[in-house]
Amino acid sequence: MRRGFKTQAERTAAEFRGRLGCRADESISIEALAADLGVELVPAGDLVPTQRFEELNELQDDAFSAVTFRLPSGRRVVVSNPLHTPGRTRSNQSHELAHIILQHSLRTVEQLGGFTFLTCDVEQEEEADWLAGCLLLPRDLLYQEARRGRTPIEIAKLHVTSETMARFRLNASGVLIQIGRANAIKAKRRPSK
Ligand SMILES: [Zn+2]
Repeated sequence: MRRGFKTQAERTAAEFRGRLGCRADESISIEALAADLGVELVPAGDLVPTQRFEELNELQDDAFSAVTFRLPSGRRVVVSNPLHTPGRTRSNQSHELAHIILQHSLRTVEQLGGFTFLTCDVEQEEEADWLAGCLLLPRDLLYQEARRGRTPIEIAKLHVTSETMARFRLNASGVLIQIGRANAIKAKRRPSK
């Protein structure tokens, strides 16, 4: 990842969250973020029979989470897998919106079992993942939740993200280390008998 990208992503996420009137400790509304970016969110079940996704899931689990299309009108649509949980869907939608915020170039088209997919380059994928995490679980929010002793599962449930994302963010944001240090200092200050 580019040098300084992680810090910049946290800042970009804070800017967007602030613009949407989202407090530091609040979950962001992905719908409001999409609307702000002029993007429409559509569950793929609205476009293709859900059965097709069941077939696809059998073919390759996790083959399709969400993709962004540009319609002939120029309007962008984020289409997500209708079989995924709300937490996973929000994480995937946030990832797609992060690509748009970062103005990533259009992706290449790939075919798999008669289905068409768009793929990104690795660097852009990492950047979108990182920014998506900052949008859904910014550092301040994570710090507060972790200080309350909330587990990744509880944080994921509370803020409607995937557990993978909650776990990743707790580690990657440095919040757990920060809390560990704060606890160590507290323990030192306590007089020993
Ligand atoms: Zn992507």
